[in-house]
Amino acid sequence: MSKTNQLGKKSTQAILKKSTKSLKTLKAVNRDDLSTYLAEELQVARIKDYCPNGLQVQGKSSIKTIVTGVTASLALIEEAIALKADAILVHHGWFWKNDDARIVGQLHRRLKLLMDHDINLFAYHLPLDVHPQLGNNAQLAKVMGWKPLKHAEQSKMASKRNSSSNSADVMDGLIWQGHPDASQKTLGQLARSMASRLGRDPLVIGNLSQPINTIAWCTGGAQGYINQAITMKVDAYISGEVSEPTFHAAQESRVAYVAAGHHATERYGIAALGDHLAKKFGLKHLFVDIHNPV
Ligand SMILES: [Zn+2]
Repeated sequence: MSKTNQLGKKSTQAILKKSTKSLKTLKAVNRDDLSTYLAEELQVARIKDYCPNGLQVQGKSSIKTIVTGVTASLALIEEAIALKADAILVHHGWFWKNDDARIVGQLHRRLKLLMDHDINLFAYHLPLDVHPQLGNNAQLAKVMGWKPLKHAEQSKMASKRNSSSNSADVMDGLIWQGHPDASQKTLGQLARSMASRLGRDPLVIGNLSQPINTIAWCTGGAQGYINQAITMKVDAYISGEVSEPTFHAAQESRVAYVAAGHHATERYGIAALGDHLAKKFGLKHLFVDIHNPV
């Protein structure tokens, strides 16, 4: 063996050692393994939805850095590129039922930017709303200090409500019931607490001095479920958005309504999912909050 070869072997070993060390600090997960893990954890196959849940746009196969956000907007993609993300995980992805199927205009701009940078896009809609720990409803309760009813109690009430349909499983996780934090004894206190904890003033329908002992909630654009909340006989129902009929439903039933923001109520599930994946696979995770007043 010549001297040159020995030297060559030595330097290769040195490089291997170095790369092993850096691999230890910066762990990676295979894209398809991550996809399989998420499909199982979020029980994607169980839930009927109006968008594809899972990997929506394929990027590079090895993932070390993930960025999470509420919506796969152009601004989020630009931030993810700046942060050198290998994958973006969102609650609101693309390819909704009844969307224009063509890749033109806004979708073309977003998709081209994403694919030019070889970034994966994963989206989880209803599966993320209903997850018992990482879901939007569970995480909003955590942020607000609400105490959800025990799962068995929720299931019983859900199956009663849905005795004529087979969607009890999904409804079960979509509307949660429970008790407010001890500091939120009136509607006014509840609204002020939401404003300070979510950083956004809610729209409130009801008498601010009315006592609040029981609440129901569903994050996002679930104002239509106020009728379910009325049958639950809760004191207040909380969701993200509001529609014109919501006002009358709340007034006539005396169930107070709080619209706390679609974006503001749905930040916490995807961020919790990102933290969970970072811990599980040793990845770098960054939650990016793109401002949205709605
Ligand atoms: Zn939503």
